[in-house]
Amino acid sequence: MRDCGYIVGVTGGIGSGKSTVADIFASLGVALVDTDLIAHALTSSEGRAIAAIRLRLGGQFIGADGALDRAATRERVFADASVKHQLEAILHPLIHEEVEGALRVERVRAAPYAMLVVPLLFETLAYRGRTDKTLLVDCAVATQIERVGRRSGLTAVATSRIVAAQLPRALRLQLADDIVWNGDGIDALSSQIASLHQRYVEHARVLR
Ligand code: ADP
Repeated sequence: MRDCGYIVGVTGGIGSGKSTVADIFASLGVALVDTDLIAHALTSSEGRAIAAIRLRLGGQFIGADGALDRAATRERVFADASVKHQLEAILHPLIHEEVEGALRVERVRAAPYAMLVVPLLFETLAYRGRTDKTLLVDCAVATQIERVGRRSGLTAVATSRIVAAQLPRALRLQLADDIVWNGDGIDALSSQIASLHQRYVEHARVLR
């Protein structure tokens, strides 16, 4: 008996459409575990990571509302790699713990399979061997920049800097088991997802 059900890991660059893709899978009954949402909760004002961040990195990382000051942190992380490593050393074990807990809850185990959304799936060793399949959400870098500008108001320069710090697209394309092309409209996306979903349901059924 497996400790968890079948797990598909979803990844892709910033603005590639991971959340959009995950939401479509969720509408088909797939249970989502999203590491971005977990990280967000951990660094909210009531979050489990806040005390450690304040203690180890200093109060300048915490906003007036008691949550992680995301804009200031983004700047400091780019300016100083040691800050990035310290922050990751605090967050990654907590995220991992939350993921493992989430994968075991009844609602997730009862779903046909679970989808684990991890922006840095291929970069982070913690998830190696944890997923049955990896699914890459792919689109052109120019599309990522345009979407992030529209969604978050980040400039092309700011987004390009984030893209450059992530794994190159060509490498991701080689590492993924499956690829969903998200360079066109939502209809084209949904039909690809429908056929992937059918395949994953079948794999999950065989392994159960
Ligand atoms: P990620 O989670 O990878 O950062 P999102 O799913 O949040 O990306 O998508 C980034 C932005 O682009 C969002 O505002 C989303 O609504 C939009 N978007 C995603 N896919 C498409 C698409 N196929 N067509 C138009 N807009 C899209």
